[in-house]
Amino acid sequence: MSSSLSLFCSSKTRFSPVVDTEVMTKHILCTGGAGYIGSHTVLKLTENGFKVSIMDNLLNSSEKVLPRLQELTGKETPFFKTDMCDAEAVDKLFAEQNFDGVIHFAGLKAVGESVAKPLWYYENNLTGTLNILKAMQKHGCKRLVFSSSATVYRPCEEPIDESKPLGCTNPYGWTKFMIEQILTGFATANPSFSISILRYFNPVGAHPSGRIGENPHGPPNNLMPFVQQVAVGRRECLSVFGNDYATHDGTGVRDYIHVDDLAEGHICALEKLFTMDGGCIIHNLGSGTGYSVLDMVKAFEEASGKKIAYKIVERRAGDLGTVIADASKAKADFGWQTKRGLKEMCESAWKWQSNNPYGYEDGPSQESGSWIQSLHLVFVLNFPEQGRLGQFYHTN
Ligand code: NAD
Ligand code: UDP
Repeated sequence: MSSSLSLFCSSKTRFSPVVDTEVMTKHILCTGGAGYIGSHTVLKLTENGFKVSIMDNLLNSSEKVLPRLQELTGKETPFFKTDMCDAEAVDKLFAEQNFDGVIHFAGLKAVGESVAKPLWYYENNLTGTLNILKAMQKHGCKRLVFSSSATVYRPCEEPIDESKPLGCTNPYGWTKFMIEQILTGFATANPSFSISILRYFNPVGAHPSGRIGENPHGPPNNLMPFVQQVAVGRRECLSVFGNDYATHDGTGVRDYIHVDDLAEGHICALEKLFTMDGGCIIHNLGSGTGYSVLDMVKAFEEASGKKIAYKIVERRAGDLGTVIADASKAKADFGWQTKRGLKEMCESAWKWQSNNPYGYEDGPSQESGSWIQSLHLVFVLNFPEQGRLGQFYHTN
């Protein structure tokens, strides 16, 4: 095991050196590896000696992440532009490549969109997963880590451990719930397969280089990408959804986790799978600490030196006041816990957003733009306090 790897999987007795050496030579397929969490995990896997390939249809990501990964790792990551719903193409890929394990990030993930287009969500996320499982089974690839979500838990305001009751409120959540059921059943029926289900809380931040980060297409649904876009002048004002919750300042509290901590959690889980003879394990990945919307705004203002304009609006339907992980099981089982705090989350997010105001895209002309947007962006980045001309092109 490389020294950096042992730093983040810090449990005492888990791996013999023989297993560690074997793990380092494994070939891992990251489905959805061009996306936000996938790209950060590809980077960590590569840095830690794994051979990594990406399969993505680029529906919600950009091929431009690939040269940036190469720049950061010094290695080219093989990329397969494949739709996981194309069973034949997925099977061909597994037949041609010798994958030892899969980290399955690929999926559609916007809650609101899933309510509007449920069949698309069920078809993409479920059919895609079934195709991958069938190909794994056929070609003898027996280790899988799956990206699940805290959204599978029934509304619960206490710290949430893995034994809390499950139940979802939207089709996106149900796809995660159903895939979890499929994976547990599959692991029972195929005892030589080892599967890890990771339930993420709220991933934020970016790699400290600022070269890769979150790149939402269209208006962001989540808090931090929205805050970041306000900071660079792409949005005029953050709407804070309610200030009458039973929290310290009335705004919603969530468990934010730095995307690099999350990426490292996948490697710890994967390592764990290579020590197992089969079975399905389930873990939360969160920090166990909660911050409110206004805490996040303040921390981001400090990290960026920008004022974030916000207004308090009605609660968002379906939101809870507080959602926090109990992540002690991941620590106990594979020695993982978060290492990066709020400051690193916000500083890295700002580095990414300020260096790449339009993500991997070239600029405003690809969004809704005009020369006046470019001019405004330059103005905002140079004169933060005076730069609020947002009403001219506000894209909300
Ligand atoms: P993302 O959209 O950036 O990455 C997902 C990737 O999957 C994209 O690159 C997309 O192009 C690809 N993809 C989608 N459908 C595909 C298909 N049919 N074939 C091939 N590729 C396809 O999202 P992310 O934030 O990196 O999330 C990764 C995973 O983690 C998702 O499964 C998501 O549901 C889950 N998750 C994310 C969060 C979060 O807040 N970001 C929280 C909990 C769980
Ligand atoms: N939130 C907000 N304004 C936004 C987006 C989110 O006030 O534009 C709040 C939301 O009500 C919640 C917190 O920020 O309290 C985190 O929301 P997000 O959608 O990022 O994550 P989730 O609610 O899915 O955990």
